[in-house]
Amino acid sequence: MVQVNTPYPAMPWLAGFLKSQGYLPIQADLSLALFHRLFSRRGLIALQRHLQQKTPPRSPSARHFLRNANRYISAIEPIKRFLQGRDESMARLIVSRRFLPEGPRFDLLRNYPFLEERFGEGTFLERARYLASLFIDDLTDAIREGADHRFALARWAEDLAVLAPSFDPIRDELTSSNTWMDRELDRLAQETLSSFRPALVALTIPFPGALYGALRIARQIRRCSSSTRIAIGGAFVSTELRSLADPRLFDDVDAVVLDDGEHPLLRLVEWAVHGRSDRLIRTFLRVRGEVVMQDHPPPGSRPPPLGSFLPAYEDLHLDDYLPLSESAVPIQNLWNDTRWIKLPTSRGCSWRRCRFCDLSLPAIARYETTPPDRLAARMAELMARTGRCGFHFTDEALPPDYLDALAQMLERRKIHAVWWGNIRFERGFSKALVERLAHAGCVAVTGGLETVHDRTLRLLRKGITVQEALRTCARFAQAGVTVHAYLMYEAPTQTIAETLDALEIVRQAFAAGILHSAYWHRFALSAHSPLARHPERVGLRLLPCPFQGFARNTLPHEEPGAEAGRAALATGLHKAVFNFQHGVGLKRPISIWFDHRVPRPRVPSDFVIRCTTT
Ligand code: SF4
Repeated sequence: MVQVNTPYPAMPWLAGFLKSQGYLPIQADLSLALFHRLFSRRGLIALQRHLQQKTPPRSPSARHFLRNANRYISAIEPIKRFLQGRDESMARLIVSRRFLPEGPRFDLLRNYPFLEERFGEGTFLERARYLASLFIDDLTDAIREGADHRFALARWAEDLAVLAPSFDPIRDELTSSNTWMDRELDRLAQETLSSFRPALVALTIPFPGALYGALRIARQIRRCSSSTRIAIGGAFVSTELRSLADPRLFDDVDAVVLDDGEHPLLRLVEWAVHGRSDRLIRTFLRVRGEVVMQDHPPPGSRPPPLGSFLPAYEDLHLDDYLPLSESAVPIQNLWNDTRWIKLPTSRGCSWRRCRFCDLSLPAIARYETTPPDRLAARMAELMARTGRCGFHFTDEALPPDYLDALAQMLERRKIHAVWWGNIRFERGFSKALVERLAHAGCVAVTGGLETVHDRTLRLLRKGITVQEALRTCARFAQAGVTVHAYLMYEAPTQTIAETLDALEIVRQAFAAGILHSAYWHRFALSAHSPLARHPERVGLRLLPCPFQGFARNTLPHEEPGAEAGRAALATGLHKAVFNFQHGVGLKRPISIWFDHRVPRPRVPSDFVIRCTTT
């Protein structure tokens, strides 16, 4: 399970590369196909049967579904058509609030009048999409009880793959689990395989929540076609399985590929068709019962230059994807409410210095950009092929000078695109540049404000100061661009007082309208980060977590010198930002979000205003 609003980009990217080399790859999004199986008339009738067979107590969503099963069953297809943009006339019916059964997920609107108020600010279509998304969320909860307790819309059995030093729990689950959802995916895999009979199936595993589904598909393919070779790769594999040593994974797959997939895929095709394993690149195989890395790149080999081929989006049925709304506040639905064409302008990170980041991985360390004129030309071609003009640049950090050149190119060629991506809130984004970017179609930026504190930002080598970052946020917001910030808590040496100061600055930034959405992430110590080499230098101590041959990424650790009570701030931090995003509590002291006494923040109450106006 990956996402249902737009294709995950690895697949069309690699398919586009293979096409540029004369191959005819076939793309299949079984994540979306499984969604359509479960969320269908037939799927919901089956869900009703499953839930009726279960003994109470049932969850509120399941009970509500059973009481209103006929309404859910008759509404599901029209609602999907509406979300897919095939029948917008449904919006009137949906917004009437008489058509959809309103289960527990609608309590958000019922119980929080401020949400109802913000919801009312949206356009007709935005409101209808939000209500239709709540309907899908209620069904997701019911499916979790009736079909599979590990199910979520964009992840499945994720717990198994987060911190998985051993393959045992995943293997056991693959062998023993036989839920309705398992069986549906097994059938889908068999049907897809029998329609195409491929020599090679390559499965991308971008996140932990995609591992179980991918291995389940692999197992079915293995069962049905012993001649088909199966390879896995993608971000999860390239980050977590670099030290792979457990040969049992190869009962289900034949090859495990690390990092960029273009050239390794070409060699995998040779291997699948002609049996040549002596030319594989960055690929683990099982040889005589042992896991062996095969890496035979030609001298001077590099990934193909960016922009030298086009991702093959036109081969996918883009209209089958369903943009969803996660929030009553339209501005916060950027990720999921549009079928963005995902496109990188670069590989790696232009900054690549943050000490908490995966700097030892090629995906971050090797920086290369698409020349802006070539990118603009590629965007125009993709727009012509797909009929869509929205792009999500999937870069780690888009630099100001690159965006400046791109904006000029888009302007010169009269390419009317809408786009957004990740930046660093650095001072290079001057007022004039930000206005040019907005004029050239930039609608949103995301970036790390991280600890929102100069001392810890320096310690982490983020390369920004709080004042600089706030000014950059203000310039984007003033140009009408949505600003989202990633925030970090429990970072090494971060004190309670510093965390509360950070929250106070975030409150002021929301109140000043220079931040529109944000999310707190707990600091994670990555095995591929500079901090992991010498954790003791920032007061961290690694906890024992014996590696047993499978995944290795986040390192369990403790910080012996950390203040007692620091971890207890998490709930309040999340609660505060959720409310700020909805315009609630912006003038109240931040202490109201905690259920225990917290010290007063030390930053002046006009800190953000002063930072952004002087
Ligand atoms: S955290 Fe972001 S900006 Fe920093 S090095 Fe990593 S990718 Fe680059």
